[in-house]
Amino acid sequence: MSNCTLDVSTKSAYLNDILNLTAAKNPNEPEFLQAVKEVLTSLEPVVLKHENEYKALALLERVTEPERIISFRVPWIDDKGQARVNRGFRVQFNGALGPYKGGLRFHPTVNQSIMKFLAFEQIFKNALTGLPIGGGKGGSDFDPKGKSDNEIMRFCQSFMTELQKHIGQDVDVPAGDIGVGAREIGYLFGQYRRIKNNYEAGVLTGKGLDYGGSLARKEATGYGLIYFMREMLKANNMDLNGKTVIISGSGNVAIYACEKAQTYGAKVVAMSDSNGCVYDKDGIKLDIVKELKEEKRARIKEYLNYVPTAEYKENNGDIPAVYTIKADVILPCATQNDINLSAAKVLVENGAKAVGEGANMPCTNEAVEYFLKNNVLVAPGKAANAGGVATSALEMCQNSMRYFWSFDEVDKKLDGIMTNIFNNARKAAEEYGYGNNYVAGANIAGFRRIAKAMKSQGLI
Ligand code: NDP
Repeated sequence: MSNCTLDVSTKSAYLNDILNLTAAKNPNEPEFLQAVKEVLTSLEPVVLKHENEYKALALLERVTEPERIISFRVPWIDDKGQARVNRGFRVQFNGALGPYKGGLRFHPTVNQSIMKFLAFEQIFKNALTGLPIGGGKGGSDFDPKGKSDNEIMRFCQSFMTELQKHIGQDVDVPAGDIGVGAREIGYLFGQYRRIKNNYEAGVLTGKGLDYGGSLARKEATGYGLIYFMREMLKANNMDLNGKTVIISGSGNVAIYACEKAQTYGAKVVAMSDSNGCVYDKDGIKLDIVKELKEEKRARIKEYLNYVPTAEYKENNGDIPAVYTIKADVILPCATQNDINLSAAKVLVENGAKAVGEGANMPCTNEAVEYFLKNNVLVAPGKAANAGGVATSALEMCQNSMRYFWSFDEVDKKLDGIMTNIFNNARKAAEEYGYGNNYVAGANIAGFRRIAKAMKSQGLI
C-alpha cells in the first residue's frame, strides 16, 4: 500500500477538513483512505462552487461514512471434518440511488478497509451507469484456491445463512467479484431460496442462464471496458486496431476484455495471474486461456504446454512481470494497487498510450498522476469497469419482467451505457477545466448525481 495518509491541501477549507477527519476516523484503513483521497481531491472545483450548501448538508461527511457495515462469523467444515471459521462482510455504503448493489469478493486479503474502498468506489460507479442502484460491497477472507467443490458449497451456504438477513431484491443485491463466479453464485442463490422459501430471482446477479441470469453478464465487464476504451481513444484520434495490448489477470474481466479487444483488431500479447505472466508475441490464443481458467482452474503458466513458443515470466520484485512487456494499451484487470509508480514509469518508458482500469483501483494514485502528466490516457475503473454492474442491473430488470433479452439486445444496451458514461465523464472534465483527465471527469459526473439525490432525501 502506497498511501495511508491524506496529506493533501485543496483550496476548499471544508474539503480539507473532511480529508483530515476521514483520515483521523479510519486510521487503519489505507485502501479506503486512498480511494477517498482520490475522489475527493478531484472534486475540488465542484466543492468550491457549492461549499456552503454542501457544508450545511454535511454532504461530504455523509458520503464518506457507510450507512451500515455488517461483519459476521462464517463457520464451515472442511473435507477432513475440521471446523473452520472465516469473517464475512457486507458494507451498505450509500442507498440514495437504489438498492445497494456490488459484488462479493472471496480472497484471503479481504478486510474492512478493502471492503470499504470497494463499496465507496461502487457508489460513484453505479451513479455513472444512470441506473437506479446504490453502492455496496461484501465478501470474506475465505481463500477458494485449492478447495474442493463441496468445501466451496458448504462455505457459501454458511455465508448466505447470515447474509440473507441483510439482503433482498429491493434492499441489497450482491453479485460476483474476485473468487466469486457462476459456481459460487449458484450455491449462494440456492441457500437463499431454501431459507426464504421464495423464488426471489433479483436478489443476486451473475446467476446461471438457466435460473434467471442475463445473457452477456459474464462478458459485460470486459466488453464494457473495451467499449469505454474505444470511445476514449476515438476522442483522442486513436483506435484499437493494430495496437499491442497487455492484460494483467486472467479471470472474468481479463478474459472478456481480451476477447473484445481482439475483435477490434488489437494484438493482446500477455496475460497473467498472481504468480506471473505469459508472453505470446504472436498474440494470446484466448480459447486456451478460457480452457485453463474457466474449466481447469489451472495456473496461467500451463499456457506453455499448449504454446511452447510463448514465454513465462515469474513475478519477482516490485513490478509484476506483465508490466515489463512493451505495449500501447495497458489493461490492469486483476486487483488493486497492481501498478505502482515504478511500474508506471516502466510502462511510460515503453511507450504506453492508454491505460484502461478493468480492476478496481489497480493503479495507485501516484501512478495515475504520473500517467496523466506523461500524456497517457487513463480510463478510470469506476467508469471503465461499470459494464458489469450495469448489466447486473439489466439482469434485475429482466427478473422483474419475468422475461429475458437476447445476447445482442443486452450487448447493445451495454455499449450504449458505456458510451454514455464516457461522454458524461468527458463533458464533466471539460466543464471543470480538467481537459482529457477522465479520472476527474468520472468522479465529478458520478458525484453530482449522488449529491443531488442525497440533497433531495434530507438529512439521513
Ligand atoms: P477473478 O477472480 O475472475 O480473476 C481475478 C484475476 O486477478 C485472476 O487472474 C487472479 O489470479 C488475479 N489476482 C487476484 N488477486 C491478485 C493479487 N493479489 N495479485 C495478483 N493477481 C491477482 O476476478 P474478476 O475478473 O471478476 O475481477 C478482477 C478485478 O475486476 C477485481 O478488481 C474486481 O473487483 C474487478 N471487477 C470485476 C467485475 C466483475 O464483473 N467480475 C466488475 C467490476 C470490477 P490468481 O488466480 O492467481 O489469484
